Amino acid sequence: MNFDVTIVGAGPVGLSFARALSDTSLNIAIIDRQTSKSLANPPEDGREIALTHLSKKILTSFGIWQEIDQNEISLIKEAKVINGASPYSLHFNHQDTSENTLGHLIPNRLIRAAAYKVAKESKAIKIITGVGVDSFNIDANKAEIKLSNKEIIHCSLMIAADGRLSSSRRSMGIPSEVKDFGKTVIVCKMEHEKPHSNIAYECFHYGRTLAVLPMVGNYSSIVITISSDQADAIMKMKDQTFNQDIQTRFNSRLGGMMIVGKKYSYPLYASHASHFHANRFALIGDASVGMHPVTAHGFNLGLRGSKTLATVIEEALSNKLDFASVEILSKYNQKHQRSTRPLYYGTNLLVDLYNSERLTAKVLRRLALRFGNNFWPVKKLIMGQLTEVQ
Ligand SMILES: Cc1cc2nc3c(=O)[nH]c(=O)nc-3n(C[C@H](O)[C@H](O)[C@H](O)COP(=O)(O)OP(=O)(O)OC[C@H]3O[C@@H](n4cnc5c(N)ncnc54)[C@H](O)[C@@H]3O)c2cc1C
Repeated sequence: MNFDVTIVGAGPVGLSFARALSDTSLNIAIIDRQTSKSLANPPEDGREIALTHLSKKILTSFGIWQEIDQNEISLIKEAKVINGASPYSLHFNHQDTSENTLGHLIPNRLIRAAAYKVAKESKAIKIITGVGVDSFNIDANKAEIKLSNKEIIHCSLMIAADGRLSSSRRSMGIPSEVKDFGKTVIVCKMEHEKPHSNIAYECFHYGRTLAVLPMVGNYSSIVITISSDQADAIMKMKDQTFNQDIQTRFNSRLGGMMIVGKKYSYPLYASHASHFHANRFALIGDASVGMHPVTAHGFNLGLRGSKTLATVIEEALSNKLDFASVEILSKYNQKHQRSTRPLYYGTNLLVDLYNSERLTAKVLRRLALRFGNNFWPVKKLIMGQLTEVQ
């Protein structure tokens, strides 16, 4: 089989990138180990994705946003960051921006289903499901990919969108810094007595964090970050005990709380590849940068990178240049590294500061919240990063 571009991984980023390229003259293949049934109708995974204004704009331009049930999109109007038991919070409000919301909260499975539907309907994209990559070889002129069903794909450009443990990245010999936090993220949905008023909370309690994110109706997405040796106990906790525990830790701000459905857990590590390109090869999405979820940047950054890479390729095509050459792909690398590195290191620093039990860290985080609240340029900078309005 011959294609211009082959994308390994039909996750939300791989599918969005395929759609980004589908208006060019290129023919595109996207392969995934999952079945077409599970890609078309992804199972619940407990992830609620906070999307910035820029991501909404990009998804709308791809026609993906329009495929998401608008009744399932929740607006985040305010966000509060709380340190320990202190009632003081760093407060962000959409009224300080030109928008009617800080961001949007959408179930991951709905984003994936919408991206799959749009890619499936494009004539330029062939989706090959139920197969993985056995091996691949890239020379000066082409990439040859051997699939697990023994078929072989030849293409000009291979894209790795196979997630944060990307085996394609590893096979390509691209080093990646991996930071293992030794923690686990536990997510679930909870119903509550009082309305959340579209406020998102990030509470840094000692040894754990608790995020409470407003979903549609009187429901919130609960995100607990906890040392991995304590995660099992939470996963096995009886519903009644769990409900009481979360309600108490959240100071009953939402009244009584009841878990709906089950809990999901994810091991917590972040990763950043040293570079995102090679000749006829590029990394996108979590395969390039896997973010700690606390600042909700993973998919947002993946979308931004897909847009940058697609633009670089389109420019090369219109100038009749080899779009898969290392010179062209290095433009994507430079641009995207400039976006990802400050966010990646900034997020990891924040996580270390808010998880540390050292006295200096405790003092610093109290100061950071007050400084952030009272010094408008800093607040504006943080809000700009979180919402990506411009
Ligand atoms: C609890 C949690 C909360 C999050 N919250 C947010 C948030 O609020 N905002 C945000 O922006 N991001 C958030 N994220 C991050 C976001 O979910 C990821 O950044 C996003 O899913 C990355 O998409 P991807 O397509 O790059 O990779 P993945 O979603 O990992 O998809 C990779 C795909 O590649 C396929 N694959 C892998 N290997 C192979 C192979 N060898 N052959 C064929 N197919 C292969 C897999 O089957 C999969 O379909 C969160 C993550 C977690 C865990």
